[in-house]
Amino acid sequence: MADRLVVIGGDAAGMSAASQARRRRGPDELEIVAFERGHFTSYSACGIPYWVGGQVSRIDDLISRDPDTFRNEYRIDVRTRHEVTAIDLDRREVVARSLDDGGREVREPFDQLVYAAGAVPVTPAWARTDAAGVFGVQTLDNGAALLDWLTQDPPPRRAVVVGGGYIGVEMAEALIQRGLTVTLVERSPEPMSTVDPDMGVLVREALCALGLDVRSGASVTGLQSRDGRVVAVHTDAGTFPADVVVLGIGVRPNTGLAAGAGLPLGPTGAIRVDLRMRVMGQDGIWAAGDCVESVHRVSGQPVFVPLGTHANKQGRVAGINIGGGYATFAGVVGTAVTRVCDLEVGRTGLRERDAAAAGFEFVTARVESTNRAGYFPGAERMTVKLIAERHTGRLLGAQIVGRSEAAKRIDVLAVALWNRMTVEEMANLDLGYAPPYSPVWDPVLVAARKAAAELR
Ligand SMILES: Cc1cc2nc3c(=O)[nH]c(=O)nc-3n(C[C@H](O)[C@H](O)[C@H](O)COP(=O)(O)OP(=O)(O)OC[C@H]3O[C@@H](n4cnc5c(N)ncnc54)[C@H](O)[C@@H]3O)c2cc1C
Repeated sequence: MADRLVVIGGDAAGMSAASQARRRRGPDELEIVAFERGHFTSYSACGIPYWVGGQVSRIDDLISRDPDTFRNEYRIDVRTRHEVTAIDLDRREVVARSLDDGGREVREPFDQLVYAAGAVPVTPAWARTDAAGVFGVQTLDNGAALLDWLTQDPPPRRAVVVGGGYIGVEMAEALIQRGLTVTLVERSPEPMSTVDPDMGVLVREALCALGLDVRSGASVTGLQSRDGRVVAVHTDAGTFPADVVVLGIGVRPNTGLAAGAGLPLGPTGAIRVDLRMRVMGQDGIWAAGDCVESVHRVSGQPVFVPLGTHANKQGRVAGINIGGGYATFAGVVGTAVTRVCDLEVGRTGLRERDAAAAGFEFVTARVESTNRAGYFPGAERMTVKLIAERHTGRLLGAQIVGRSEAAKRIDVLAVALWNRMTVEEMANLDLGYAPPYSPVWDPVLVAARKAAAELR
């Protein structure tokens, strides 16, 4: 008799796991049932800001494989609009309820289970409102609802984005592109708190130059509505009128079902998994994506880093193992890039406060350079910051703020970090040079040289 695999969550992690398992074990060997609460499978939440902003025109462009493709080509029994409500580990079955069919309940037995329920938005009390015009941007349905609101007649004119992380700034860009006046409210002293405040200042200055009203160091205290529609956002730094409010205040791992079933959670609140993405101590139970914690390769500590890049890799690892192969997930270094209009931000590794919390003694080096030779058309300023361990010179973290071709330079630094290179070694790296691509000393090399000098 065929084994049965049940997957909870039909996006990046869940469907990567299901597809990999299918590639290795045909339908006669492995039956696969995937439950997805929403309408879509394998969609790109990462593309929502660009869809709202108009750079991507159709929702279909954000779906890499739809349920019918999985059903027909992969022989995966995808049940969309089905919410899993419980996991019974003793009976090895999940309980799910149809969201369309009068709440009909089904019980589905499994030999192997993949828990890939992602993350859920953080919702402080003030954000739990019935007022129309307040939107999260976690799912394609959220994006569609926001787009509907933005295209009503007359269209909204003033937007407040709450949260200055990468999703908040990407949404701010989208709203600017749609012609709205945008206020960005961020509780931390500077936006993009994934970089150190001295780099965040550069982000704030650039956002202001784009015409955004940036209110950092301000906390939202409440929303005001009239006739059921949001009209303003109250903060401890003043009240801002709003015809639309977009929330980007972070996510937490979606572990309610897992915790209910007694699966182990780690110190970050996410599910604990081993190297093969098996839930710690649980045979045949796997977890991947935004609901699990990962090991940070620099600090050695468990971290919650909810990114699509990890969700895809972790799902793949789980699927290979379920399919009878062998794969491990090597951990994360926290590499992330983002763009708001023509401003680019990249980061990898530890920020100063992470390095201090992990117990490292460190030096920092910050340099100003350009993306191309200074005389070459289109040369733009770029700031690179490195953090290196004091006694060994090992790179601990890096951040870049600049314009075109700035952000993806972080990948060179991520590779150096991954391979535990010292800043002295990095200063000698053989990186490409031609005037359209960099100054003769690439900004990465200049920063490494400066950090090495700080160590002496
Ligand atoms: C606006 C936005 C922009 C982003 N940009 C980037 C980016 O540029 N780069 C990057 O690396 N990452 C980005 N991300 C993050 C990335 O989208 C996530 O890390 C990734 O989607 C996680 O995949 P996942 O499969 O773990 O979880 P999810 O994508 O959240 O999928 C989990 C699925 O499980 C379903 N589900 C949950 N509970 C149940 C249940 N009980 N029963 C049935 N189904 C359930 C949900 O409906 C959901 O479809 C962005 C996210 C957003 C919201």
